[in-house]
Amino acid sequence: MNDKNETGKNETGKNEDDMSEAKGGSADGPVHIVGAGLAGSECAYQLARRGVPVVLYEMRPQKSTPAHSTAGFAELVCSNSLRSDDPFHAAGLLKREMEAFGSLIIGSARHASVPAGGALAVDRDLFSERVTGLLENQEGIEIRRQEVTDLPEGDVVLATGPLTSDAMSQVLQGLLGDEYLYFYDAIAPIVDAESLDMDILFAASRYGKGDGDDYLNSPMDKEQYLAFHQALVEAETAPIKDFEKKLFFEGCLPIEELARRGVDTPRFGPMKPVGLETPDGRRPYAVTQLRQENLAKSHYNLVGFQSRLKWGEQKRVLRMLPGLENAEFVRMGQIHRNTFINAPVHLDSRYRLKVAPQVRLAGQITGVEGYLESAATGLAIALYLSSERQSRAIPDLPRTSALGALARHLTESTAKHFQPANINYGLFEPIPGRIPKRQRREKMADRAHTDLMAWMDAHGFDLEKDPRPTLTTDATEGATAEPAGAAS
Ligand SMILES: Cc1cc2nc3c(=O)[nH]c(=O)nc-3n(C[C@H](O)[C@H](O)[C@H](O)COP(=O)(O)OP(=O)(O)OC[C@H]3O[C@@H](n4cnc5c(N)ncnc54)[C@H](O)[C@@H]3O)c2cc1C
Repeated sequence: MNDKNETGKNETGKNEDDMSEAKGGSADGPVHIVGAGLAGSECAYQLARRGVPVVLYEMRPQKSTPAHSTAGFAELVCSNSLRSDDPFHAAGLLKREMEAFGSLIIGSARHASVPAGGALAVDRDLFSERVTGLLENQEGIEIRRQEVTDLPEGDVVLATGPLTSDAMSQVLQGLLGDEYLYFYDAIAPIVDAESLDMDILFAASRYGKGDGDDYLNSPMDKEQYLAFHQALVEAETAPIKDFEKKLFFEGCLPIEELARRGVDTPRFGPMKPVGLETPDGRRPYAVTQLRQENLAKSHYNLVGFQSRLKWGEQKRVLRMLPGLENAEFVRMGQIHRNTFINAPVHLDSRYRLKVAPQVRLAGQITGVEGYLESAATGLAIALYLSSERQSRAIPDLPRTSALGALARHLTESTAKHFQPANINYGLFEPIPGRIPKRQRREKMADRAHTDLMAWMDAHGFDLEKDPRPTLTTDATEGATAEPAGAAS
């Protein structure tokens, strides 16, 4: 697919100063994309389909990261969820915007989806296999399985993720100086289904969403909960290296860190009991939800239970959860480094490094957070880069759209307090006036669709799937499938 080669249109009200110009890079050589994760994969696919040649570098399997375990592209390293699929939720809206451009990541997620209430969750192996297969067979993409240790000549998209290899981290540090940040995320544990006690666990989704029984739930009474909380607080955690800062991402706090914040904090986060009743009609004091990991239903993850407890301690404490007394752990929770730049200082609105505009940054390293958001930045870069290659001047994506809101977050946040963020309506250009939350979300989603479609139409982008939702849906309030504190 190639975009229409229209030029000179500017119907979105932007002045010519906002329009794209080919800056730096090479007008005809391939675009070098470093990293075939969520962002790099989407970017490569979108560029190649728009007629721009790509060299896609991936260092796995020769060299891996502390979190990846396969050689597949777009490997999901923790949760298997791409968050809410409700069209009025900001994450659902972003998915639909990406689908309007024929997103590889969202298309593959739908292909490999598993039941998860209102969320879009996937069988991670099937998902990665599909992304890898489509990229390997896509004309215009040359794949090189190697670590990149220096910036290639020409247009570069750096999509090396939160676990960017040391060599590339050093290159970035050299370019950007001290404005370079670290913090920690933690991986949620996965258990073997056969080791779970199904007489104690019950199948249900919060408020009966999705198929109504998409999660396994471990109910607790007050006494059990208080004992569990105590054990969490007292358990031993893995040490943090001195040279790295202890700084957690608020949306992905380890369960033991939540417990330390207060006896009820987990009960208002991942262990909240609202919307759930046991089969005999009781409302538990606290609930732990287990989400299906694969189509075979052989593995389940503990939603929101990312942890940096030592592994032996983790097993001991998590086996206190009713129904998990004999749980076999397929993967333990872990801590990990997360690398991202101070985007408001270093990036322009098209993801170009201000000090080296031929280098774009995509994915988590920009300071967006999450699989979905990372892929979205890769897609946006491909739209800009392909139009530059076709000498088509286009303005930035509308700030009122979810795609535009991500760039707004990266470029307009206060540099001093910059923190990664998942997509949420707080990042969008506000709607003036006092409007109830539900209506505000509907209005924002509606405005996003109107503005994005006008932008696509004005600048020659084919609409691959109409993203506009029906406003009569009741799927708005509380549509996030995971409680606060769950893995992003
Ligand atoms: C442990 C952990 C848990 C996480 N949990 C979640 C979660 O539950 N939900 C969620 O939405 N997000 C989670 N994240 C964030 C997640 O990493 C991002 O959402 C997403 O994977 C980022 O996409 P990306 O394309 O930026 O990076 P990645 O998907 O990590 O892709 C980067 C790729 O670049 C490759 N690479 C790195 N350096 C080089 C080099 N020098 N040369 C060549 N290749 C290189 C890597 O091998 C990798 O394949 C987690 C991250 C980590 C580390």
